[in-house]
Amino acid sequence: MAVPATAIPHSPTVQFDAALIRKLSRQGPRYTSYPTADRFADSFGMGDYLQAVNQVRALGARNPLSLYVHIPFCDKLCYYCACNKVITKNRSKAEVYLTYLKREIDMQGKLMGDMNIVTQLHFGGGTPTYLSDEQMGELLAHLRSRFRFANDDDGEFSIEIDPRTVTPERVRTLRNQGFNRISFGVQDFDIDVQKAVNRIQPEEVTLAVMNAAREAGFRSISIDLIYGLPKQTLMTMEQTLGKVIAANPDRISVYNYAHMPALFKPQRRINEDELPNAETKLDMLSLCIRRLTAAGYVYIGMDHFAKPDDDLAIAQRQGRLHRNFQGYSTHADAEMVSVGVSAISSVGSTYSQNEKTLEAYYERIEQGELPIARGTRLSVDDLLRRVIIQMLMCNFELSIRSLELAYPISFAKYFETELEQLRVMEADGLLSIDDDWLTVSPKGRLLIRNICMVFDSYLNGKQEVKPERLRYSKTI
Ligand code: SF4
Repeated sequence: MAVPATAIPHSPTVQFDAALIRKLSRQGPRYTSYPTADRFADSFGMGDYLQAVNQVRALGARNPLSLYVHIPFCDKLCYYCACNKVITKNRSKAEVYLTYLKREIDMQGKLMGDMNIVTQLHFGGGTPTYLSDEQMGELLAHLRSRFRFANDDDGEFSIEIDPRTVTPERVRTLRNQGFNRISFGVQDFDIDVQKAVNRIQPEEVTLAVMNAAREAGFRSISIDLIYGLPKQTLMTMEQTLGKVIAANPDRISVYNYAHMPALFKPQRRINEDELPNAETKLDMLSLCIRRLTAAGYVYIGMDHFAKPDDDLAIAQRQGRLHRNFQGYSTHADAEMVSVGVSAISSVGSTYSQNEKTLEAYYERIEQGELPIARGTRLSVDDLLRRVIIQMLMCNFELSIRSLELAYPISFAKYFETELEQLRVMEADGLLSIDDDWLTVSPKGRLLIRNICMVFDSYLNGKQEVKPERLRYSKTI
């Protein structure tokens, strides 16, 4: 069954093809980075990061800065959770964390603070609003004392909100504290689904917080949903989608729940008998695409939809869309400095990830070191493949000629093996390819991860891979 989505002028459309998805869905990375984080090496450390910072300076430090701040604490465990978080009601733990976080900010501020202005700030977690108003205010003041921020009109300053942890009053305070974009975890409005995942979040609470965000003048309001949760049915999805569309957010993300209890302990508390089967999940995805595109949302890519006048949709039309660890972004070519436990930075041609446990993170900072635990320096081949994967993920097309102008390669020769795989995908209707362009078709867009995987040399036996690291969710 092929269900064409509503066409939005100048915007990519998406077409749901169940038979094709059934045939091609497999496990694969989400490509928030390339190489993906599971390829980072323990041999990469603070020295390599400092070298990368020096190189960026030597090249004139032209890129603006993007800051990511990780707050790992949550009050209560959601059973579907696959994040790096600490569940605790002991607020003093956040106090301790903030003292170390500020010390890391001091170190990064010395290295990068004078380099350029911060055009993008993102608070993620965990639950960033686990912090009190006062703690948040102090942390932001600390960041501002170490980095220079763009003004409110030019900068994208976003925060992830758990509506259960904030009041409308708190939302207004967050706007006054400088955030101008906000995203809410909703997952599903159905109470039985909420009980099954241990996340009771009354609809009135979410809607009140959303309304407060709109009144407070947040420029973009985003909602996260998940399909494939226990007790979810097409009916509950239909109802949740109706309510979400009525609430009128600027962006909607619809994530596929990947049940991997061997990897993520909280998921062991989910009753597997209550999970929808693969066919129902496909129907749910089809329903989401139909409902959201019919309501006027543009398919951005992967799990993301946005209104045609939202910055993400505009950036995509203008070919400025970018993908980083927070998903799609309008700020390309920024040096990304991330602070907090497990946070990943992207500076120059390197990625570096902080220690993943609080103990190790604190210990490194005690020693006066940046808490970098692993990372990677990209080779020229990595950089080339990263550009290709970015282009495909963000624009659904690749200008082969432009690539050949920017890199000293003949595409046909360099990617001879990849082209063989792409020809098979072309026969399946996922894409078309000629001497100048690789263009992803509307029905290939949902399988964009599969297409990108063709260019991933770590998956295709061209690089050494540790087999135990190959743990990915399904592409659809
Ligand atoms: S899903 Fe979010 S709020 Fe729930 S436990 Fe995980 S990080 Fe915390």
